[in-house]
Amino acid sequence: MEITEYGSYKHASVYPYRRPPSQGPGVAPAAILNKKSPKKTIDGKIRQWFRKYKDMDQVYTDLFDDVANFIEENIDAIDNKVANSIQEFKRKESFLLTVDFRDSKISQDFRNFVKNGFYANVNEKYHTRYGVTSLGNGECFHCGKSKEVLAFTSPFQFYTHDKVTYAPGFDRRYVWKQYPVCMDCALIVELGAAFIRDQFSYLFNGIPYLLFPKFINVRGMSETLDELINAYENRKKTLAKGSKINK
Ligand SMILES: [Zn+2]
Repeated sequence: MEITEYGSYKHASVYPYRRPPSQGPGVAPAAILNKKSPKKTIDGKIRQWFRKYKDMDQVYTDLFDDVANFIEENIDAIDNKVANSIQEFKRKESFLLTVDFRDSKISQDFRNFVKNGFYANVNEKYHTRYGVTSLGNGECFHCGKSKEVLAFTSPFQFYTHDKVTYAPGFDRRYVWKQYPVCMDCALIVELGAAFIRDQFSYLFNGIPYLLFPKFINVRGMSETLDELINAYENRKKTLAKGSKINK
């Protein structure tokens, strides 16, 4: 077992990750560790993932079965090991528990398997909603390439697709024309939005705001972001104070 440090945005990923639902595993065998009871994460999010996906591809059925059985049989030992490993860290730290294989060939194939499953799952969320599929071939709003573009990719609501009564003849199949975005850009936008919400959101006079930095030069963006985050942390305190005084 290994513990790797990662920052809020500069992390090296093994495969794509998205927070799993409260019940059952997510689209990847990974989840934020339940520190009070590591067993819950090991069993509910990791072991169950291997059970759930073992029949997706015959190549993996036996391997996934073995992994799931191994976890089941050794759950107490794994639970202890995880609990001991995180003991030295501060209470506020959080951990992402995930699985990989030591054999580099298996590891690479496995990562691709998870990645493909993840993409298929995310892709569907981006194009199917209200029981309607909305996608087409067009120019992506962000990268400008002509490719398949999807309808429901925006993390912010600035175009209409929920109220069909707003316009006569509104047809959800063509929602993609309002904000056509390709799969690659959709993922970047989603990550960016999560980052903004995490790092650059604040309350002013009780009203929530998001700050969107715009970079003139992308070179050195990472360093500039670090400076901005620090500066913004301090500014946020002043803003929070201001909002209290005004009340
Ligand atoms: Zn694009």
